[in-house]
Amino acid sequence: MNAWTKVILWTSLPIATGLLCSCQVGLLRGSRPEKVKVVVVTGGHDFEHDPFFTLFQDYDDIEYVEAAQKDDSELFEDISRWKYDVIVLYNMTQNISPRRQENFKTLLRDKGVGLVVLHHAEAAFGNWDEYRKIIGAKYPLTDQMIDGVAYPTGTYQHDLDLTVHVVDPTHPITRGIQDFEIHDETYKGLWFAPDNNVLLTVDHPTSDKTIGWTRTYGNARVCTLQGGHDPKAYENIYYRALVVRAIRWTAGVLK
Ligand SMILES: [Zn+2]
Repeated sequence: MNAWTKVILWTSLPIATGLLCSCQVGLLRGSRPEKVKVVVVTGGHDFEHDPFFTLFQDYDDIEYVEAAQKDDSELFEDISRWKYDVIVLYNMTQNISPRRQENFKTLLRDKGVGLVVLHHAEAAFGNWDEYRKIIGAKYPLTDQMIDGVAYPTGTYQHDLDLTVHVVDPTHPITRGIQDFEIHDETYKGLWFAPDNNVLLTVDHPTSDKTIGWTRTYGNARVCTLQGGHDPKAYENIYYRALVVRAIRWTAGVLK
């Protein structure tokens, strides 16, 4: 891709695909412009912090805070003053108490809080069986049985050049995006929910075919994007577009 093509893509992607300006979001959400409030959950896996958080910066219609988990899942201990429209999971922490599990489910199922799951968060909360049903996948960190089927420990490979296929170009998250190239990490050997609405696939021997999908959980919209290992992915314009649209779509402001 040459520089000029990139400029056109940068400037035309939001318009061509129905991304909303903050005023439109305000119209949809009520009487005054209101930003989508996002909490980005981290912890349990290294990543390059500042490059990652550029994924959420400089948008008029989005504000975010990081919730770096020191006790794996303390964000969900008390949700009585919950104030976020969307949870972005980029954590790989494991422990989540029954109380926190219930609160997590209440936020999604009953309150309709959106959920965006990125990359190694597919391997989070491995002992909480409901989690895979919420996000639509599970990266097995150990050999295990899932629904009566033996799953060996999942595998991964860094630093691959991949062609991502957009298999649902009608969905608001992928609308107007054609197949694209990305330098990223692959996962293989995951369990996938059979009722995922698959958006993205890849054909590579080190990767599972499905790498992006949506689903619902109660009143919540959920989007999981398997990619997103390091700055090579964070700076990819297509990945950036997918992440911000996933936030808007799970918030209910991108139709
Ligand atoms: Zn990774």
